[in-house]
Amino acid sequence: MALIVQKYGGTSVGSVERIQAVAQRVYKTVKAGNSLVVVVSAMGKTTDGLVKLANEISISPNRREMDMLLSTGEQVTIALVSMALQELGQPAISMTGAQVGIVTEAEHTRARILYIETDRLSRHLNEGKVVVIAGFQGISSNGELEITTLGRGGSDTSAVAVAAAIQANFCEIYTDVPGILTTDPRLVPQAKLIDEITCNEMLELASLGAKVLHPRAVEIARNYGVPLVVRSSWTDDPGTWVTSPKPQGRSLVNLEIARPVDNVEFDTDQAKVSLLRVPDKPGVAARLFGEISRQKVDVDLIIQSIHEGNSNDIAFTVTTPILKRAEAVAAAIAPALRSQSNPKSEEAEVMVEHNIAKVSIAGAGMIGRPGVAAKMFATLAEAGVNIQMISTSEVKVSCVVDAAECDRAVTALRTAFEIEAGEQGSKGAGGAGGEFLTPHSARAKRPATNSTHYSPPPVRGVALDMNQARIAIRQLPDRPGMAAKLFGLLARHNISVDMIIQSQRCRVIDGIPRRDIAFTVARMDGENAKIMLTQVSTELGWGEVVLDSAIAKVSIVGAGMVGQPGVAAKMFEALAQNRINIQMIATSEIKISCVVAQDEGVKALQAIHAAFGLAGSEKFVIPA
Ligand code: ASP
Ligand code: MG
Repeated sequence: MALIVQKYGGTSVGSVERIQAVAQRVYKTVKAGNSLVVVVSAMGKTTDGLVKLANEISISPNRREMDMLLSTGEQVTIALVSMALQELGQPAISMTGAQVGIVTEAEHTRARILYIETDRLSRHLNEGKVVVIAGFQGISSNGELEITTLGRGGSDTSAVAVAAAIQANFCEIYTDVPGILTTDPRLVPQAKLIDEITCNEMLELASLGAKVLHPRAVEIARNYGVPLVVRSSWTDDPGTWVTSPKPQGRSLVNLEIARPVDNVEFDTDQAKVSLLRVPDKPGVAARLFGEISRQKVDVDLIIQSIHEGNSNDIAFTVTTPILKRAEAVAAAIAPALRSQSNPKSEEAEVMVEHNIAKVSIAGAGMIGRPGVAAKMFATLAEAGVNIQMISTSEVKVSCVVDAAECDRAVTALRTAFEIEAGEQGSKGAGGAGGEFLTPHSARAKRPATNSTHYSPPPVRGVALDMNQARIAIRQLPDRPGMAAKLFGLLARHNISVDMIIQSQRCRVIDGIPRRDIAFTVARMDGENAKIMLTQVSTELGWGEVVLDSAIAKVSIVGAGMVGQPGVAAKMFEALAQNRINIQMIATSEIKISCVVAQDEGVKALQAIHAAFGLAGSEKFVIPA
């Protein structure tokens, strides 16, 4: 007998028939000997309808009243689902977030869960009832008993948080798609269902997975080791398991990260190889990393900054023991790259730096919080640490710094983000290896991949983000504090930054060493960011601020790429074969992202998806 939380999304409870079908499934699960908590969304597009009503009355409705309004949607569903269960002879009781005691901060329309009371829940469960809980809502902790909501799509978060609080064996998320797919099936009809994915991979795929699973829910699942499965409520197919490493017995108080960053990682065993002035055209990165992978060199971070004239800089880090080999490959290939393009151009040059370290902050709490990266840069600036290289992913910011400054950097970051030393594994959020949790019942059903030594594939999924714009600032003075100023400014204007890349090439102008920096923001923020940055650029001694809105970001994610040479090369090769030029590259341990021209985004996605053999034979039909 298991204790299970089942969550049903809007379309799964979109009509009376659907509610009856849900009741049948719940009833069957109980009859199979399980205890059940059911968390539901508002019926169909109810919440959208309520938002529309509010907007007809006010262009910026009061946030407290908005919560009062939106929370009603789920209240309808819980009552109807309970009635449907009672009709089947199954004892059931509906409860609002407040009645359960889902206690949140008092932030209307975007509250985070602080803790969940379990007494009332347990009492009803022990009496043999199914408890049907309204998702998406809670009650404030400030004594005012204010109704709060968790933000759109928040019922997933309610469900996983309840599962963590009552220590459920697992949590099932029922939706209208069969699970998590390798990519967006509207763009790649051959997208395939993924059987299993780790929480860390899921978080890096946020832009792909967010429509199916709220990233905050994934974060809670990871932190508390709640096995999750995403399935269709129309079929009995097994869906996609989202697995977590064994939890570390985290407190259930302040359940949803009060901290945006949950780990500070560092690696001092690194060296950096840069190739300066390689031609800006398709195939260059493919050639370089193809050769590197043939030599079995495993690279860690890769970055390619924006081009200057018609050449690029590409830099990568490797562990010190294989530096010699990496350097040899780069040196061998540099002249060839030059003569091929423009024999008269300045010579491509290889630059090696030995004494470097990588320091990173990691945590899903940084998604959508622009101040987090800025705080990292400000902290490093205050500690007098200069940043040589920045690379970002959805849930991580990594900076390459001088090895001698690593300790200072880590100490300062731990203090700033309130991370105790040794609180978590110090290195690698990749999630490869380690023991992953899935319920025994599910294990039995799954084929060969279920041993504890299961090694994940190098690429689990491919995501395309067409809603970004790129901003480049030329000739930023290269000294501590510049990145902090820049990203601090953006954060104060509430502009979230996604990918950040600092150029390798350093030029001395007016006696000051300078580098370019480029980053991507949501397209709708592009124009504002440009205007705002241009206003301060002279005062801060920056060069030109350039905006390019016609970009696309394509990313591959997979925990299995850790320690596997050749994955990046394969991605770059797929782009090269399609004559797609790479404008920027940024990587984390389990993700590689490339910026390409917007009109080549879909082609890039399709080529990469095919190159990694992710295509299935079945075509997905997307429900309207
Ligand atoms: N009903 C809410 C929404 O539409 C919460 C949810 O369904 O997850 O955003
Ligand atoms: Mg949803």
